[in-house]
Amino acid sequence: MLSPRTRGFPIIWSALAWALAGLACAGLARAETAAPPAARADARAAPAAKAAPEAARGSRGDPKADQKADAKADAKADPLDRLRERLSRQLGATEAARGGATSPTVMRVENPAPGELRLQAEPAGARGGASRAAAGAPGVAAGPRAGRPGTAREGVHPPWSYLGPDGPHTWGTLSPAYALCGRGQRQSPIDITDGLPVDLEPPQFQYKPGFFGVVDNGHTVQVTVAPGSAFELGGRRYELNGFHFHLPGEERIDGKGYEMSVHLTHRDAQGRLAVVALLVREGEENPAVQTVWNHLPLERGDVVQSTIEFDPSALLPSDRRYFTYMGSLTTPPCTEGVLWIVMQQPVTISPTQRRIFARLYPMNARPIQPLGGRLIKQSR
Ligand SMILES: [Zn+2]
Repeated sequence: MLSPRTRGFPIIWSALAWALAGLACAGLARAETAAPPAARADARAAPAAKAAPEAARGSRGDPKADQKADAKADAKADPLDRLRERLSRQLGATEAARGGATSPTVMRVENPAPGELRLQAEPAGARGGASRAAAGAPGVAAGPRAGRPGTAREGVHPPWSYLGPDGPHTWGTLSPAYALCGRGQRQSPIDITDGLPVDLEPPQFQYKPGFFGVVDNGHTVQVTVAPGSAFELGGRRYELNGFHFHLPGEERIDGKGYEMSVHLTHRDAQGRLAVVALLVREGEENPAVQTVWNHLPLERGDVVQSTIEFDPSALLPSDRRYFTYMGSLTTPPCTEGVLWIVMQQPVTISPTQRRIFARLYPMNARPIQPLGGRLIKQSR
């Protein structure tokens, strides 16, 4: 399964993917979606967006702030060049150390410059405080690994969290780049209700097995997949960037919440973002999720690079019916214009699998956002 040629590839690929996302907008590092080329213009604001799990580039924040951010980034060396240099050093060391072993590769990227890849994120919930989850789960404010400090260079685009003074209700005020989190009218997640029952074209999933990387980015467990997986819908092809987890689940269906959700983040060639959301309830163990948990890094910010292949389609429910609406990323910068595909059939995880994630992130879900008259369609 592993050839010398392919062994190093996923490391390079995933690291570059993170770098690109970090550059372009919201730092895939902590984030879900790589940024769309089309959004790149406004997304170059990106040193800004660097912390978005839902993350795409395409922050539609204050143009002045964007210019400032660009100027700041331009004043420094090209972050991508710096990353390449660092990667080449890391890869050299990694390969030497591995000597052909088949165990997963762990690499760490620490203290990156602003706009560069930031794997060492603000510890989620590091500060106590009130938020919807804190209320329901006292004492969860500081996760067991929340002690590692975030980087100090957070000036323009400050850290955010799910709890406390930089929790969801303040995101829109933390940075001009996050403004949509506060004033956006088409935000996610939502309570999906009153969908129009129609005949919806099922998404054509073309996910493929490949190597993957797992990182605890400070906001979630983020899995980055090799290029080549995609789904087609409405004549468009949306490339899969990766996926991550929320606990509890962010989406609600007719008011009902779920134990967790999985967000598979995509973008098409024109930069349009699409998230496929999976509702997760407790039940049978989920082998695909177990594969990810098996690769959890021991330290926040470390990337565990798989030496086995994984097929993301193993995550999907068998029933292809879904709800769909237009929304946003659910993390700063809360970019709008995101096509949401919420699969109707839940998938399961075992109670133990849920507890494993809860050890890292007892609560990493954004509160429900107003629907604001948006249309929801659902497969009948
Ligand atoms: Zn998400």
